[in-house]
Amino acid sequence: MSDFDTDLFVIGGGSGGVRAARIAAGYGARVMLAEEFRVGGTCVIRGCVPKKLLVYASRFSHSFEEAEGYGWTVGETSFDWATLIANKDREIARLEAAYTANLTRSGVTIAKTRAVLEDAHTVRLLSDDRRVRAKHILIATGGWPGMGTGIAGIEHVISSNEAFHLTELPKRILIQGGGYIAVEFACIFAGLGSAVTLVYRGDNILRGFDDDVRTHLRIEMEKRGIKIICKRIVEAVEKVDHGLCVELSDHDDIVVDKVMFATGRRPNVKGLGLEAAGVKLNDKGAIEVDGFSRTSVPHIYAVGDVTDRLALTPVAIREGHAFADSLFGGRPTEVDHANVPTAVFSEPEIGVIGLTETQAREGYLRVDIFKTSFRPMKSVFVGSEARTLMKLIVDGASDRVLGCHIVGPDAGEMIQMLGIAIKMGATKADLDATMAVHPTAAEELVTMRTVTESHVRQAAE
Ligand SMILES: Cc1cc2nc3c(=O)[nH]c(=O)nc-3n(C[C@H](O)[C@H](O)[C@H](O)COP(=O)(O)OP(=O)(O)OC[C@H]3O[C@@H](n4cnc5c(N)ncnc54)[C@H](O)[C@@H]3O)c2cc1C
Repeated sequence: MSDFDTDLFVIGGGSGGVRAARIAAGYGARVMLAEEFRVGGTCVIRGCVPKKLLVYASRFSHSFEEAEGYGWTVGETSFDWATLIANKDREIARLEAAYTANLTRSGVTIAKTRAVLEDAHTVRLLSDDRRVRAKHILIATGGWPGMGTGIAGIEHVISSNEAFHLTELPKRILIQGGGYIAVEFACIFAGLGSAVTLVYRGDNILRGFDDDVRTHLRIEMEKRGIKIICKRIVEAVEKVDHGLCVELSDHDDIVVDKVMFATGRRPNVKGLGLEAAGVKLNDKGAIEVDGFSRTSVPHIYAVGDVTDRLALTPVAIREGHAFADSLFGGRPTEVDHANVPTAVFSEPEIGVIGLTETQAREGYLRVDIFKTSFRPMKSVFVGSEARTLMKLIVDGASDRVLGCHIVGPDAGEMIQMLGIAIKMGATKADLDATMAVHPTAAEELVTMRTVTESHVRQAAE
């Protein structure tokens, strides 16, 4: 008879926790999972999925405009936010039920409660103050929006969590932040008809992305009427007669109906009892783990956003899966965090993989850049000024493609496919040898023949 009530206790029913629990149970482990809010976690409930539905909704306005050029008479259009939110909520409820059913079918016992660590083997369930003794524990508690250090009027400010539940579409919204969530919501609200101001403290939006991508997207967003203010921060928010008055660091005031902060997400570790269990945090406040997601306590593991390696759903899922394979499946598996393709669902969309030009030039002696910016066929036809950017970064010595950066329609779909080739180590010659699919925008990726820039670094540097 085991001394433990369960072989594995998973805290958090999001992308990483759900996958780990299901796979571990499939290997015959006794698994319990606690979820304090809704099964599915950030991605399903208040992240990727509802966001993408809002992105789809926001793009219709542009499609209606283009349709006329193609001979359609669209007639008068109108948009009803309440309908979109109600339909979105129905879809999320369907997905939550599917996730719950999958877990149960796999033999996982679900506890709908907050769970905290009491010691290195004991999990306390707060709903009924029950203690569960677990042989292994997986922490998959995700992240939470950081709202800064607290400015005057912070109580009037929403995060992305609340943006999904607004009762009406704001006519004017100010979003603070320059990361992908800020940029995506700016484009969503603008597409749906709001007047959008994006305020960011840095020089340019999307820090960490390739500089050409950052500049290109900023220009395209501005063409669509989004006002982008850099090198400023919000200093105070005050309720006034006709909305919220936002004071910026240059003392400019802007009056809007809603203020949203998307200023980064923090690992969700508060009040978890990590100290009682002896689990260490790193200097970023995330749970410190090794390549097998093991924490400083050998039988306690952590996956997903709470470890702040790469805060993306497919990464959390892969980490959860690898954890279960390693511990219960007899297949020790480390997750490779290099060359992860990713998308930003802005308007236009971004798809990237691999190194930025700056990173490549720091790490390689000769870097060749192949770059093109063009008006896609569908837009040219209707006289739109929208441009697409494609950029390949190639190691001049080995010819290997080190990075690919796309800004334009369907960039996310394109980068998923090109990502396979780049992950496999494709060279520029491999891309050249691939026949183009014509007429597409993606064909540019295999037809760029001329080096637009070549950077050679002195070996002695
Ligand atoms: C607005 C937004 C858009 C995003 N868009 C994308 C995208 O397009 N593509 C992409 O790849 N990623 C996207 N992400 C990121 C993605 O959602 C996360 O990387 C992913 O959900 C992380 O999974 P996780 O398992 O680590 O944590 P989560 O999915 O956050 O799950 C953690 C779960 O743990 C629960 N929990 C926390 N503490 C406790 C406790 N003590 N007891 C019980 N339960 C607890 C929480 O309620 C939550 O359900 C987006 C995120 C946001 C916020």
